[in-house]
Amino acid sequence: MVWILDTQDGLISSIVFAKALGYGADVAIAVPPSPPATSPGRSRNMAAIRRRDTVPEKCIRSLLHAQGLRFRVDFPIRIGGARPIRPDVVFTRRQLAVFVDGCYFHGCPEHGRRDGGANAAYWGPKIARNRERDAEQTMLLQSGGWMVMRFWEHEPAAAVAAAVSAGLAAAA
Ligand SMILES: [Zn+2]
Repeated sequence: MVWILDTQDGLISSIVFAKALGYGADVAIAVPPSPPATSPGRSRNMAAIRRRDTVPEKCIRSLLHAQGLRFRVDFPIRIGGARPIRPDVVFTRRQLAVFVDGCYFHGCPEHGRRDGGANAAYWGPKIARNRERDAEQTMLLQSGGWMVMRFWEHEPAAAVAAAVSAGLAAAA
């Protein structure tokens, strides 16, 4: 069991994905308040990372649209009493939810933040919290009968679009 307290959104949650996240059992993680940017340059860089996050999603959506596929963006899915989940691309009829996870904020194995560096005490738990939420949302959607596909933003948009097409065919 891993407990993660995120002081930014005030959430405390328990998870059983300790192994997946690389933690042992009974680990307590606290996400401290956001640190100030270490420098103006660093601040600009962070803003650029956030902006860039949306570019692969746009590419993937364009490719899907070009294939004649129609889907919803920012569509809230409610399952049970949980807070609505908003996947990046949603095919409502086929019940397919697609996420394109940002490498930095979701801890991609190739481009995620390594231990150490400025504000590691903040970003380590923050990214762990994001990954925990990703896993929770995947399981919740699946429990509600949804097919869930998750991709990293670094994956080629054409490959992602092809995989989504194949997923839709399988869901038909
Ligand atoms: Zn990556």
